[in-house]
Amino acid sequence: MGDGDFGRVFPNAGPVRRNCEHWGRFGSYAPRSRATVVAVMTSIANIVILTGAGISAESGIATFRGPGGLWEGHRVEDVCTPEALAADPALVHRFYDLRRAALSKVSPNAAHEALARLDREWPGALLIVTQNVDDLHERAGASRLLHMHGALKQALCAVCGERFEWYDALPPGTPCPACAAPALRPDIVFFGEIPYQMERIEAALAEADLFVSIGTSGAVYPAAGFVRMASAYGAETLELNLDRSDGSGWFDESRLGPAGQLVPQWVEQMLSRRPAR
Ligand SMILES: [Zn+2]
Repeated sequence: MGDGDFGRVFPNAGPVRRNCEHWGRFGSYAPRSRATVVAVMTSIANIVILTGAGISAESGIATFRGPGGLWEGHRVEDVCTPEALAADPALVHRFYDLRRAALSKVSPNAAHEALARLDREWPGALLIVTQNVDDLHERAGASRLLHMHGALKQALCAVCGERFEWYDALPPGTPCPACAAPALRPDIVFFGEIPYQMERIEAALAEADLFVSIGTSGAVYPAAGFVRMASAYGAETLELNLDRSDGSGWFDESRLGPAGQLVPQWVEQMLSRRPAR
């Protein structure tokens, strides 16, 4: 799986990527009014931020929905499923080698920089949950960060489960530094695999006073269910997105525009503890 939004590729994905259907149990929640967000914005301590492909797109990273619905010239099911990895490991490894190498050609944008600033300066609990597999949050300086769909600059041993930082090409059959099995693969959560650290994410959502979704379509579960879970636990919810998303109706407030503009504005607002406009 790659930088983000599977629903754009598989809008009727059926059971794929719906391993955590219990996330949908909050479907009866009714969004609060925007005025509620305004009222409580000054009492927020714990923040959970979900980021998706939209935030990296402004740095020039290709998303799934390229020309013809292809991801860098490939059908997503040919490079982002366990079946593809088994059938043609050379193709799949090469694909992620190229994505990894391409990271050197892009830089964090104003949205990444603003979130890193918030991470540094926010005195309360904060967790950035990203669906992206690039390293732009880290390079901007964010540290309270979780890659729920894996990371291009990590390798995963399919035998022992150990992870390793990985910066170069990763040919099939590369031996694991820990167990020596020739089983290292890109540490990417493919379609049909369960995202990482879901328990930690749920725990953070349970404690959150504010959940913010940035640059994601809201169409892909389980991430699409985070807003309802956060609301059910009592958090206020805010969406920052280029366009209205499939999940916009679940948020207390949606602000529409480029992440590079909206995110710095929101971060400034939070750090100055001004009420929302
Ligand atoms: Zn191993």
